[in-house]
Amino acid sequence: MNDVLKSPEISIVVPTYNEEGNIYKLYEQIVENLIASSIKDYEIIYVDDGSSDASLKHIKELNATNPKVKFITFSKNFGHQNALRAGLDYAKGNAVICMDADLQHPPELIPTLIKYWEAGNKVVYTKRKNTNDLSFFKKLSSKMFYKLVSYLSETKLEEGTADFRLLDRSVVEVLKKFNENNLFYRGIIPGIGFKQLGVEYTPNERFSGTTKYTFSKMVRFALTGITSSSAKPLYFSIYLGAFLAVCSFFYGLYAIYVSLYTTEAVAGWTSTIASILFIGGIQLMMIGIVGIYLGKLFSESKKRPNYIIEESNISNI
Ligand code: UDP
Ligand code: MG
Repeated sequence: MNDVLKSPEISIVVPTYNEEGNIYKLYEQIVENLIASSIKDYEIIYVDDGSSDASLKHIKELNATNPKVKFITFSKNFGHQNALRAGLDYAKGNAVICMDADLQHPPELIPTLIKYWEAGNKVVYTKRKNTNDLSFFKKLSSKMFYKLVSYLSETKLEEGTADFRLLDRSVVEVLKKFNENNLFYRGIIPGIGFKQLGVEYTPNERFSGTTKYTFSKMVRFALTGITSSSAKPLYFSIYLGAFLAVCSFFYGLYAIYVSLYTTEAVAGWTSTIASILFIGGIQLMMIGIVGIYLGKLFSESKKRPNYIIEESNISNI
């Protein structure tokens, strides 16, 4: 209980993976904006997700001048969502703001987030406006991602909502109880209820460095998003199977007709091989879908930690 009394008003959680060029700039802007909101009691937690550059060194330098800067260092790269999870696990603030390290999530929005939180909202999430600064590929892939996840899952994902949001302490406590591996916050938070409000923002360009979401990380993230919020893909095999059964039935009728009433019956090799390949392909795809869910069950059943902390200056770690 003592902890609650001492807790800072606002915690800022920043997943950081090789962001050496952004640490200082982000820190300055966060502090500036917290002061603008008259927040003196805060903590900034950089979750260093196994960076191999000087990120941690810079964070420690900041800590030496301002003890409100905290750090959690992972033993290796565990991914963005796990870095967020660690931040939420150890943040002590009455409200926790999560934001990226690269200044694409504008710190100038912090006072707005705090204002709406003080007005009684438990989740203040943000929606990215599409700007011309974003690459065509990023725009297209993100549009497809939101559409697909929304279509397939029970909760609707609003386009452009990312992991830049303010969460009230009560919501953080709820989220800490979600024990599944590969947490997908974007899919979970809209579905947990509470008073939620969205604000729009225009993203900045990355201040320094390049994106840490490689193509393969993005594909994996999209698959996690879909399979962790919905079992609908599993039903595809039933629908597709039924559809193919109906098609094969009519094709069968046609084959009987050809062999009974025409003289072209032997020329069936092309269609045979084509249908074998087609069905084979579909089957492999469906086994793949089932495999993803099975893999999820496998990894959940092991109950391994989602991240391993190597070092931190947070008191209760
Ligand atoms: N990030 C992380 N671990 C990773 C990949 C990314 O902690 O494995 C952090 C990264 O440092 C940044 C945020 O997650 O603060 C978002 O990543 P990025 O800006 O590279 O993604 P993009 O904005 O290009 O989608
Ligand atoms: Mg970014």
